[in-house]
Amino acid sequence: MKIEDFNFAGKKAIVRVDFNVPLDENGNVTDDTRIRGALPTLKKVLSDGGALIMMSHMGKPKGKVNPKLSLSQIVKNVSDALGVDVKFASDCANADKEVAELKAGEALLLENLRFYAEEEGKPVGIDKEDPAYAQAKEEMKKKQKDFAKKLASYADCYVMDAFGTAHRKHASTAVIDEFFDKDHKMLGYLMEKEVDAVHKVLSDIKRPFTAIMGGSKVSTKIGIIENLLDKVDNLILCGGMTYTFSKAQGGKIGKSICEDDKLDVALDVMKKAKEKGVNLVLATDCLAGDDFSNNANTQVCDVKNIPDAWEGMDAGPEARKAFAEAIKAAKTILWNGPAGVFEFDTFAGGSKAIAEAIAEATANGAFSLIGGGDSVSAAKKFFKAEDFTHVSTGGGASLEFIEGKVLPGVAALDEA
Ligand code: AMP
Repeated sequence: MKIEDFNFAGKKAIVRVDFNVPLDENGNVTDDTRIRGALPTLKKVLSDGGALIMMSHMGKPKGKVNPKLSLSQIVKNVSDALGVDVKFASDCANADKEVAELKAGEALLLENLRFYAEEEGKPVGIDKEDPAYAQAKEEMKKKQKDFAKKLASYADCYVMDAFGTAHRKHASTAVIDEFFDKDHKMLGYLMEKEVDAVHKVLSDIKRPFTAIMGGSKVSTKIGIIENLLDKVDNLILCGGMTYTFSKAQGGKIGKSICEDDKLDVALDVMKKAKEKGVNLVLATDCLAGDDFSNNANTQVCDVKNIPDAWEGMDAGPEARKAFAEAIKAAKTILWNGPAGVFEFDTFAGGSKAIAEAIAEATANGAFSLIGGGDSVSAAKKFFKAEDFTHVSTGGGASLEFIEGKVLPGVAALDEA
């Protein structure tokens, strides 16, 4: 079912949102992006004349009640954003009374789902090595199903709109849907946007397609890199993984980060790129520092000839130029992972150059998707989300999705 085609009038809808917002030490919300992101779906339920039940996790309470992670702290923020007085149920698994009293046009927020271990469905207090673990896991699976059934019992229909947790098989994201038929479960608007953006980048490609993969390691990105080698015209590999590629080719990399056990992986990527006709763009120069800090002394070095006491911490001027050229020529752009230690302003220039080129290409009509936590922070450090076609809200979820994995939270609903 598509949310746009569903009429919530007279129905109770349970919506899985991602209200895992950051709080300060006094419990005040410091960034309400995620609350605002959920509004299109929440407002659709209310304006159709439905009764809205919201559920979310916050932090990692590991199956225990923890007042510091109570969603009661955000009720006012959600009320202000939605424009209705949101009610609160202080026990998500015992909210029958609050749900029964909920009328059309009203909204109810359930307490943190992860106060129950059943939400994540992992046995607590037992080691994975323990012989009894397998049985505990089996029992927990049954309990997880019961917990999901309880949540489902509150509502006539289910909406999944929490992209950030869509890669997890949790009760509220990927078990609850079993209790609704295909006409009463759907993705929310935020999820639809995420799914459409990744689909555009991976299946409905306008060429040339340039992907930029950065970040610290080859090992965490190799799945995506291999998936992309079959799809892209240009592949820019930057960030910390640059030095694994340099060393693999016999370069001197000083103190730069390197995964010595991935040198063959790097050579294999280079070989595959050649075989597949992919233009692999690796940095030729870097901005090296003599200390891992913002105040380090810097010098531009050849990436294959970095002095012993120095460390490659950002892309150099020649590399930035080559990256920008491959980006500006593209009609489809995907960026995941910064080009340097962007948290230090001194080494943020490479990531800035990438963001700038993507924003320019986007203004000229290219489709751009920025996915993954750190590249989103890097992009937002210099530009507004509106400068790109789509800035993904999920870290781990967007990585796994781009890698081509099926997300449990999407699978059951995509065809529904
Ligand atoms: P990831 O989580 O793999 O996407 O990596 C993101 C992190 O990579 C950021 O915190 C960056 O500071 C870091 N990073 C990027 N380039 C380098 C580099 N040349 N040396 C060390 N860390 C880097």
